[in-house]
Amino acid sequence: VPKLKVAKTNTGKGVFAGEDIKEGTLIAMMSGLRMTSRQTEEAIEAGEMRSDDPFQIGENTFVELDKPAYYFNHCCEPNAGIRKGQELFALRNIKKGEEICFDYSTTVCTHCEWEMRCACGAKTCRKVVKNAATCPSACCQYYAKKGALPKFIARELE
Ligand SMILES: [Zn+2]
Repeated sequence: VPKLKVAKTNTGKGVFAGEDIKEGTLIAMMSGLRMTSRQTEEAIEAGEMRSDDPFQIGENTFVELDKPAYYFNHCCEPNAGIRKGQELFALRNIKKGEEICFDYSTTVCTHCEWEMRCACGAKTCRKVVKNAATCPSACCQYYAKKGALPKFIARELE
């Protein structure tokens, strides 16, 4: 996997490319402690997790991400995506120094009530990011074509 650097951003921390990364390259494994929906909800209610933190990999499976995976931010026009459930990969060529982001909506099931304000700066910024059902269809088609739409989400969007 390529070199990565965790550094400060306007909103906290983010992960940056430590070298040029070619389209299709595996960037990081989105791994950590596996939890059920119920365990995730309880952890959020107890204040042990923030609602933006759990990473969904299946209908009823979430991951409490290890670092540095935890620090990847959302962008409405991302340079990375998720394949095979837990692989973050480059959707296009990424230059050294660019922040690496993916679209959080691609991993939030259509019946999850979740939202997050976004100020990613992209032309197509959705301002408020919600579950996969709210992702513009052109956007979903692009992710699907790139293999960056997890199966459990693609099934729900059919
Ligand atoms: Zn945005």
